[in-house]
Amino acid sequence: MASAYSSDAAYPPAIDDAECRRLIQAIKDWSIAKGLTVRPPPAAVSATETELASTLAMTAPVTLFPSPFPRSCFIEAQGAQQAYNELYAMISQDEAFLSRIVAEVAGGDDFTTQLWGVHERVKAEGYTHKHSLGIFRSDYLVHQETTESGREHLQIKQVEFNTIAASFGGLSGQTSELHKFLAKTEYPLLQASSKIATAIGYSLPDNTSSKGIAAGLEAAFEVYNRSETTHNDLPRCIVFLVQDGERNVFDQRHIEYAIDAPVFRVPFSRILQQTSVDASSPRRRLLYHHLCASGSARGTAGTIFEVAVVYMRAGYGPSDYPDESAWEARYQVERSSAIKCPTVLTQVAGTKKVQQVLATPSEATTSELGRFVADADRQATLRRTFANIYPLDTSSAAGRQAREWAQDPAACRKFVLKPQREGGGNNYYKDKIPAHLQTVPTEHWASYILMELITPPPVVNLILRNGQIEQGGVICELGIYGTCIWSNGDGASNNSILRNEAAGYLLRTKGDQSEEGGVAAGFGCMDSVNLV
Ligand code: ADP
Ligand code: MG
Repeated sequence: MASAYSSDAAYPPAIDDAECRRLIQAIKDWSIAKGLTVRPPPAAVSATETELASTLAMTAPVTLFPSPFPRSCFIEAQGAQQAYNELYAMISQDEAFLSRIVAEVAGGDDFTTQLWGVHERVKAEGYTHKHSLGIFRSDYLVHQETTESGREHLQIKQVEFNTIAASFGGLSGQTSELHKFLAKTEYPLLQASSKIATAIGYSLPDNTSSKGIAAGLEAAFEVYNRSETTHNDLPRCIVFLVQDGERNVFDQRHIEYAIDAPVFRVPFSRILQQTSVDASSPRRRLLYHHLCASGSARGTAGTIFEVAVVYMRAGYGPSDYPDESAWEARYQVERSSAIKCPTVLTQVAGTKKVQQVLATPSEATTSELGRFVADADRQATLRRTFANIYPLDTSSAAGRQAREWAQDPAACRKFVLKPQREGGGNNYYKDKIPAHLQTVPTEHWASYILMELITPPPVVNLILRNGQIEQGGVICELGIYGTCIWSNGDGASNNSILRNEAAGYLLRTKGDQSEEGGVAAGFGCMDSVNLV
């Protein structure tokens, strides 16, 4: 195992130019044939060819070989997922706790405040939904530490927990399949690698992410059908709320096509045109109006569906809410009886402030974590995956200490500073922290968290991106998906959980010089684990 992480490792195997070209061609064909694809960026298609653009796909950036990943860490991360599902289902039901979180970040974070406003409006009139669906992804890096006795110790550490629009579950299953295919057909032909190829073949775990996520959505559809019995006059459907011009559409399509129920895609910007709340039903059921050929949204009875589940692949950041009508749209969804994935409460549960409150080291005997997860073993499972995270408030000792570290030119090098945002590109690393904080009024500092940097072991790989090979040191981020369904309003207890499943994994890999991840953002790429 150690050799996979040392700089002179024979992994990935050395390949000559001809072998590299062969591998690239094999990957391109497989990716297009099997939908390991994204839409080309608009800039790659000329303005006169907009019709053509909608017929095009290109290969998603991907590693030539599955990256080595410590088996023990992979098993540990998978083993923690059900505990994480339960934890976030419990947090989602603790409105008082979440309202304290929102109050703490309110000063510097209008978005979370506005989101909370939607919850308060619905709370005032009374929620009508009976159940919630979580499609979660817990993200990790492997932390490598040298112990006092000089031994290298590897431990999985959580980067963040995603409760909304956790992406790549569709493409990650395909990536595992691609690497399995290469291990069967191409790697054994490489001069340097026949032994390695055989070994890889046994080290690639199955990855059922798209099926697992689809199964969660289907289960929610069934739960709605069983529990909403007042009306049965309309066919029922699942709605995916998506962003306009989404390039990562095939990732979403893989999940959609694995669902055995009608699924419709509605752009977040068109919610008010394509859906309505049935005014005649006290349950406030959500209706989906399928566009007729003429383009008008309101059709005959045959084109109206009752929405059982709303799966949000949009709505997680300020750019999806350019004006008041976007907030009205979110309110319309929230106040309906449809099962939301996620509700506003679950979205707020996924803020980095919540992660910090759970993970701040504390002397206190009663931790926040303990309030949500009673079982001591489950608590320990979760706690082992926490990196140290600190608040930047003035009311706690941890916060005051963190403020000092964040401003100190030497101490800040151990940390990353994060605002309450999703979607990449928002963090400040190491010595950029003090300078950034200087631009933020001190009364807004409490809306940030300060997190210790996780230091992964060095791994080398080759990345195929836009037809070109990039080679060098990489960092691999593991995501474990989970699906969870719970009933609302019975008071938070484990009994409220109807479904709790792990659902496959994602490995995203980026060059070790880039601090932000994210394939869609152009930095990271798809990968799969070669367990070592
Ligand atoms: P986002 O919501 O933007 O995805 P993340 O918390 O996942 O925010 O941070 C983005 C990226 O920054 C991660 O994918 C990871 O590569 C890097 N990162 C975040 N936290 C840490 C950390 N504690 N140590 C090392 N890298 C980190
Ligand atoms: Mg992230």
